[in-house]
Amino acid sequence: MTKAHIEANHLEKAYGKIKAVDGVSFGVQRGQCFGLLGPNGAGKTTTIEMMEGIIPPSSGEVLFCGEPLSKESQHKIGIQFQNTSLQDFLTVRECLDLFSNLYRHTRSKAELIDLCSLEDFLDRDNRKLSGGQRQRLLLALALINDPELVFLDEPTTGLDPQARRNLWTLVEKIKSEGKSIILTTHYMEEAYALCDEIAIMDKGKIIAQGAPKELLKLYFEGQYIEIPESDLQGKKPEIFNYPFHRKGENIEFHVPDVKLALAELITQDISLNHMSVRSASLEDLFLHLTGKDLRE
Ligand code: ATP
Repeated sequence: MTKAHIEANHLEKAYGKIKAVDGVSFGVQRGQCFGLLGPNGAGKTTTIEMMEGIIPPSSGEVLFCGEPLSKESQHKIGIQFQNTSLQDFLTVRECLDLFSNLYRHTRSKAELIDLCSLEDFLDRDNRKLSGGQRQRLLLALALINDPELVFLDEPTTGLDPQARRNLWTLVEKIKSEGKSIILTTHYMEEAYALCDEIAIMDKGKIIAQGAPKELLKLYFEGQYIEIPESDLQGKKPEIFNYPFHRKGENIEFHVPDVKLALAELITQDISLNHMSVRSASLEDLFLHLTGKDLRE
């Protein structure tokens, strides 16, 4: 494998007795979108803040193109923070101007305005933007120095589904420009849609890592069949010999072969009118690995 664009080696960060990050190692290849996933407090932000050079690790190191992080390498990095305070009263255009003055090398503003679809609200006070518009501005600001590598810390938290989809399209565009991306999120579907590789974090550690589809294949064969318990007509779910769990009024069976399972349900005279079948998701994987929901 070629040298990683950025690499975390045995990163640890302790705050008193709290180990926010507890021995995290991974590499991100050039042009890859790498997702760090996990519930609140898993250690995602702390990990990427060490990789951005914002906070020093308690131990371990970060390599950028094989070398320890330096001021020079930081010029090649763009960061979209979870919360960025922008100066009151500044319009979107003025924010772009202000930030572009901070760098030696900047990307053309016209290109950024087009890329991040800022045209319609360029002269609006930044405090008057919708959540999605604000995130697009913050992304433009993260790209202002035309970085090779971009960190996006929970870029879609709190956005409505439409705004979230818009931001996904934007991330795809940035990826198609060949930039490497490190994204933190607790939306599994976001990681599945955008990331070439993911690391799932819990309590400061990586508990699973790989391409989303391969991870699912590794941990899960088969499908889930969901059926209202009332349609079982008094029969106990145990009689089907499949692992199952209750989801409200429904029973969800995890079955290795849908055709066989359906044949069995039909033999037992179970109505299939309200049945649904789905593949395993990263959410199931998280539940499987940690015994808890991702967003508890
Ligand atoms: P979220 O999804 O909520 O942003 P996260 O996965 O990014 O969570 P971190 O913000 O990295 O998690 O926090 C990991 C742990 O470290 C948490 O228990 C947090 O309270 C703790 N922590 C983070 N920063 C500090 C700090 N400056 N001082 C003390 N504890 C901290």
